[in-house]
Amino acid sequence: MKTELEKALEGKTTGRVRQLAESEGVPAEQLRQAVADGGAVVVSGRGRGGAVGIGRGLRTKVNASIGTSSAIIDLGMELEKARVARDSGADTLMELSTAGDLDHIRRSVLSEVGLPVGSVPLYQASAEAAAGHGSPYAMDDDLLFEVIERQARDGIGFMAIHCGINRRTVQVLRDQGGREGGVVSRGGAFMMGWMGQSGRENPLYEQFDRLVEILRESDVVLSLGNGMRAGAIADSTDKAQIQELIINAELADRARRAGVQAMLEGPGHIPIDEIEANVILQKRLSGGKPFYMLGPITTDIAPGYDHITAAIGSAWAAGYGTDFICYVTPSEHLGLPYPGDVREGVMAARIAAHVGDMVKLGKRSRDLEMGNARRGLDWERQYALALDPARARAIRGERPGSGQEECSMCGEQCALKVARECV
Ligand code: SF4
Repeated sequence: MKTELEKALEGKTTGRVRQLAESEGVPAEQLRQAVADGGAVVVSGRGRGGAVGIGRGLRTKVNASIGTSSAIIDLGMELEKARVARDSGADTLMELSTAGDLDHIRRSVLSEVGLPVGSVPLYQASAEAAAGHGSPYAMDDDLLFEVIERQARDGIGFMAIHCGINRRTVQVLRDQGGREGGVVSRGGAFMMGWMGQSGRENPLYEQFDRLVEILRESDVVLSLGNGMRAGAIADSTDKAQIQELIINAELADRARRAGVQAMLEGPGHIPIDEIEANVILQKRLSGGKPFYMLGPITTDIAPGYDHITAAIGSAWAAGYGTDFICYVTPSEHLGLPYPGDVREGVMAARIAAHVGDMVKLGKRSRDLEMGNARRGLDWERQYALALDPARARAIRGERPGSGQEECSMCGEQCALKVARECV
């Protein structure tokens, strides 16, 4: 079967492209053209979990990552997190479990929510090598590619794959003298360790054609992982990160030539004055391919509030042209997220995405309507326009005087009521 990219290149506007274009309010031909030239991707995962478009001309999308760790293995909680993410408005999920029955967890999540699901296959391949051979570094090429195939057949829609961690990237990291904050990508760190132990090149780089052939079979979107993303502000936009970006940009072109849709992942921890440069670099080097940004986290000193540090960065990033943002929860750097953290993270990311889209796409009509509803003290309209109607309703409702025309902030001195009589 042909991929969405191959069909778009043949000039065919598929039903899925039409449907996504309609939901975005853009012409179907515009989306087909963006898919054909690599400016957008359609994530569909063999039709499981619905579909989403990511890229040029489209609303900024939000991903919520869930998954077990060796410290907390609770399938029930992961499924609850998946439902909370969906109900809070996430566009995609990433199922990133590293412990427990990984096939069962992934398939359960795929069955539980009607959202496209992404993965990092390296996590499962290394976990299976550890379980089967006593060490994650016992992972061989066949196991790695077999896991990728297994996940693709299950209906995973996009995969973060760390192809850009190769000998050259690792050498650049060494030559620059390492990092203040170390290497924080689990996939990146594992692959560096595997290469060190085996003395071999990264098979995901060395056998890239084998990888894309598997992805093409199930039309999985290749998300080129950012294993060298900075984990500290002091390391932002360094040589190792840019080296990996250059390699990933070249690989994204190769993937496209093989009929596979591709996007690139980005940092990480970066100060706000470097966000624009990161987006420009990614877009220029990749020829405008979708940019999937992790955060970015804009200061290192707010543990417990990293959904806010990331939302600040995501809003700037989306405004400059980032297409897809991964949420960050309040438990970032501290522990595995609980369902409440997932909700906070998704809401913060959705707010950031909208703030960015107000600039990137000029989407301001809902804000205008809200301004008018506020002036009219039309509370039901305000709830309907709110990104989180239940929260808005609850806050007003739990305060004294919630039945009054105004709210309890200014009470009888409600500026809007006073001004209404003047203008
Ligand atoms: S009371 Fe104050 S905050 Fe509340 S609606 Fe009126 S002006 Fe706005």
